[in-house]
Amino acid sequence: MSECIFCRIASGEIPAKLVAQTADAVAFHDLNPQAPTHVLVIPRTHLPNAAATDSEEGERIAGRLVRLAAQVAEQLGLGAKGYRLVMNVGPDGGQSVAHLHVHLLGGRRMTWPPG
Ligand code: AMP
Repeated sequence: MSECIFCRIASGEIPAKLVAQTADAVAFHDLNPQAPTHVLVIPRTHLPNAAATDSEEGERIAGRLVRLAAQVAEQLGLGAKGYRLVMNVGPDGGQSVAHLHVHLLGGRRMTWPPG
């Protein structure tokens, strides 16, 4: 059994509010939403974060994650007004789960710079 909570969500071992899934990736609602829409998009393959995508396979996985995030944004009606995609990396990036993921945030105007 994997120790990684996102691996366990991807395998269906831990329930999540799924939005979409493909052969490579799963999208589900964040437990602690930071915007009216806050979805996480994760690969089924375990990679710790964006720093671990330095291979052909890593590039393919990262590309498909971004693609699925954009498709989910359209599916949820965010396309016209826009949205934000975020990848936190490491402690200074605010990463709390060590499994590559994209945050899809939308439904309100985002501010810049982020906190
Ligand atoms: P990060 O801080 O970038 O690593 O993002 C991890 C995100 O995972 C946070 O926004 C958490 O709220 C979210 N999260 C942690 N556990 C779960 C879970 N079981 N289901 C849904 N979201 C989760």
